[in-house]
Amino acid sequence: MAQIIDGKAVSAAVKEEVAQEAARLKEENGLKVGLAVVIVGNNSASRVYVNNKKKACEAVGFQSYEYALDENTTQEQLLDLVDVLNRDDKVNGILVQLPLPEHIDEKAVINAISPEKDVDAFHPVNVGKIMIGEYSFLPCTPAGVMRLIESTGVDITGKNCVVVGRSNIVGKPQAMLLLQKNGTVTICHSKTKDLKEKCLSADILVVAIGRAKFITGDMIKEGAVVIDVGMDRDENGKLCGDVDFESAEKRAGYITPVPGGVGPMTIAMLMKNTLTAAKQQAGIE
Ligand code: NAP
Repeated sequence: MAQIIDGKAVSAAVKEEVAQEAARLKEENGLKVGLAVVIVGNNSASRVYVNNKKKACEAVGFQSYEYALDENTTQEQLLDLVDVLNRDDKVNGILVQLPLPEHIDEKAVINAISPEKDVDAFHPVNVGKIMIGEYSFLPCTPAGVMRLIESTGVDITGKNCVVVGRSNIVGKPQAMLLLQKNGTVTICHSKTKDLKEKCLSADILVVAIGRAKFITGDMIKEGAVVIDVGMDRDENGKLCGDVDFESAEKRAGYITPVPGGVGPMTIAMLMKNTLTAAKQQAGIE
């Protein structure tokens, strides 16, 4: 039976580190870390994420600035706001909650955010820096996954790492981070042949595909570290992951549950990135 990786506990530890550092910055440098969160329209899931981000800011002692814009906001208006926030010294990090309404070009908005304030690490400059290993910010979900793997004590060096999913926000950066830690990395996607065989070769398996319970126990190597990024609904509408937890935990050495695994890590890493941004902008090591 696998050991469960407790994402809530690891994320609480990250947030505690951030809170202590934020308090030190305030005391020693008079710096209050600020995160601007921009939401456009009435997407209910986005609203929940934004509220959670605001709560996390409060918990670690950051100032959050919320900009809730009307569904009919034009791209130009949104770009104007990003420009104002780029130049606002109180704002260290800027997060524009995705998805945006269809009439707004997400790429144009991401590209307009100053790379120094791009705490989601979606800007091409930050994506490129991840590629060459000289990054300031890591994309929040893959960075959270790395912390979870680290929490198991399993050394990534020389391990067969298989990432299922190649999205720009999870799969691709995840593969780069595992490579930088000396894993031997295979990236799988919807056109991959013999997915089961590839998964069975994984000492470390990270799954981010968005299909409920798709990876079953018979696809998992005995003793593997299994990280489930998926946030899906099962046939009864219950939250579940991309991995069939019940069969997988019988084979894995370590496994993340859904909920309570990767999910809590993403916001914790966002707080960490915002702190890093504030320190860099103030020229503090
Ligand atoms: P995405 O952009 O939809 O990408 C899905 C990836 O999975 C694609 O690369 C796709 O391959 C691959 N895929 C789909 N079906 C597959 C199959 N049958 N076999 C192999 N690969 C397959 O998704 P995403 O944004 O990366 O998100 C993935 C999941 O993670 C979702 O459930 C999402 O909700 C969750 N998520 C969670 C968090 C968190 O904080 N916990 C954060 C982000 C995402 P192709 O490229 O060939 O189409």
